Amino acid sequence: MTDVPDPAMVPSTVRVHGGYTLTGSLEVPGDKSISHRALLVAALAEGVSTLRGLSDGDDVRRTRNAIEAIGAAVEPGHPGLRIVGGRDRLHEAAGALDCGNSGTTMRLVAGVVAAMPWKTVLVGDDSLSRRPMDRIAVPLRMMGATVSGQGTRCLPPIEVIGGALRGITWTPPIASAQVKSAILFAGVCADGETVVHEPVPTRTHTEVLLARAGADVVVEGSAQGRTVRIHRSRLRPIDLDVPGDPSQAAFWVVGATVIAGSEVRVARLHSSPERSGFLEVLSRMGARIEVLRTGEADIVDLVARWSRLRATRVEAAEIPSLDEVPALAVAAAVAEGTTIFSDVGELRVKESDRLAATVAMLQAFGARAQAVGDQLVVEGLGPRAALSGACFDSAGDHRLAMAATIAALAAQGTSTITGFGGVMTSYPGFLDDLSRLAGASAFEPVDHGATTADPVDAEIGAADNRARSARQRERQPGRAPLIAIDGPAGAGKSTVSKAVAQRLGLQRLDTGAMYRAVAWAALERGVDPADAEALGALAASVDVVVGARVTVDGVDVTEAIRSPEVNEVVSTIAANPAVRRALVARQRRWAAQHHGGVVEGRDIGTVVFPEADLKVFLTASPQERARRRGDEAPATIARRDHLDATRAASPLRAAPDAHIIDTTSRTVEDVVDEILSWC
Ligand code: C5P
Repeated sequence: MTDVPDPAMVPSTVRVHGGYTLTGSLEVPGDKSISHRALLVAALAEGVSTLRGLSDGDDVRRTRNAIEAIGAAVEPGHPGLRIVGGRDRLHEAAGALDCGNSGTTMRLVAGVVAAMPWKTVLVGDDSLSRRPMDRIAVPLRMMGATVSGQGTRCLPPIEVIGGALRGITWTPPIASAQVKSAILFAGVCADGETVVHEPVPTRTHTEVLLARAGADVVVEGSAQGRTVRIHRSRLRPIDLDVPGDPSQAAFWVVGATVIAGSEVRVARLHSSPERSGFLEVLSRMGARIEVLRTGEADIVDLVARWSRLRATRVEAAEIPSLDEVPALAVAAAVAEGTTIFSDVGELRVKESDRLAATVAMLQAFGARAQAVGDQLVVEGLGPRAALSGACFDSAGDHRLAMAATIAALAAQGTSTITGFGGVMTSYPGFLDDLSRLAGASAFEPVDHGATTADPVDAEIGAADNRARSARQRERQPGRAPLIAIDGPAGAGKSTVSKAVAQRLGLQRLDTGAMYRAVAWAALERGVDPADAEALGALAASVDVVVGARVTVDGVDVTEAIRSPEVNEVVSTIAANPAVRRALVARQRRWAAQHHGGVVEGRDIGTVVFPEADLKVFLTASPQERARRRGDEAPATIARRDHLDATRAASPLRAAPDAHIIDTTSRTVEDVVDEILSWC
């Protein structure tokens, strides 16, 4: 499924146990940098662009929200998203654009709106509000926009009053792909030539995507760096599969390298010299990493294996964004000798003071590290000592939380990582992937205050996560409602939920089809429905897409999941907590992606979305339900209902605040009208 963050998925605290190896293969979320830029190019392009595999993190969602707020239409595609863009569609946003924690959103969107003849206010969270915007404000002002912020460093909130721009020639004083991109987005709408010269080349996604959309953009390389020239251009729509994000892959590559016995394959990863510097660093340290071509340009698979590491010297220019420094610092902590990361002072103005936080993390795990001026100096423990379990507060910094998780896996004993919720920013499925590679017992989400006895609810659940999710939903202006429809087989859920979704213009999710799809896969692959562990692994690994058609790993199973064989086993399989955990996480992601919708099932109002805006529980007499399910034997239906209602994990039952409707002798229209009257 295409995933977008669901706050309920990520606990605020995680306990991680050392001693688990990482093995297996995975794809990491779509490249964040490419995702942001693709959305902005699509917003400016005249027509309909299609983007697949966008990053599912909060940062990219901010950019998506921003382009919607200024007039681009973002619609679900099959698969991916369709973006209807074009300069004539764009207009002044009704309110401030909330960039959350995303500096990329703020800087790049500022570049886009600098050329628009209206005012845009860009705000961010506390951390983003401390990040300087002068580095984009200065060149954008020179081009003709009015950009104002707080204090001398132009801190957010910032206000951009755009208009007719003229090209400039600019050499950013600090290597920054964001600054370059802001200027190029302004430059594609400016008179004359806009030139950005980079003494240290940074990631090239903006110029590559603009060129792909037909912009008049030229790149020249020389010993003095790279120069990008752009002229005003009309952009045409793009069609793009976003490859995996190397900076997210870095956690698993480092993990596989430092944890004895590990071997991880990361598939379909974006590869370019500006993004692959961390691989060079690790290779110098002695890591065994294979880079395998996939046949697609700039996309590779990586295989990383446990290796003995030795110290190295890392120049900041090798990893221009510095995103991989926290992960590399973990590698340095177990290597033999002293590793120096030079010139990394820029880490101080990332989402947190990442230089201080990286030092604190390494020290917490028992390694010796210090910041000396703009250097990070790490004295590795070498093969004769090991990191030790620690308590570490990542203070909401996503990269610190993930790097600390890798350190914790490599450490002896158990570690507790707080402030973990930050991983929503870029990698909401991080724990799912950890579970895939290390097994579900390698970690425990720590649940503050959940009192439920339901094992799935307790495992995934978390009263605090739910509250957070509800708060988050409340903060989203113009969000769609989330309607939960539960009930036994034949109660009318599918018909009613389809009609409600249609009348309200919402998307609908049939969660029963997801359980059926896993049941089908289990039958197809000979997995014993009683083998809880194998089933859990199957549910976590199959790619189930439920829409107008249902597919499992790309195979269309729309009809096959309604077979008597599937009817027979589905409820047994659905009673497995690991299966539920995997599917509930996906259901929550689906709702977050669609900002609401109509979701039907058995546990939607009780476990999956206890914060739903409206909960409906449909029932009907056993005779009527058997009549409606004419293709399924009454005995099978009865057995399913019994299993569904009596299982320990998320049994079928009405939420205390659900509206209960007996549909036995009512028409569909009548039931739908009643539901709509509550909306
Ligand atoms: O809705 P449908 O009858 O297609 O669901 C098939 C089975 O999937 C149910 O009998 C139940 O065992 C399981 N299911 C579930 N939780 C849901 C949806 C369906 O356990 N949310």
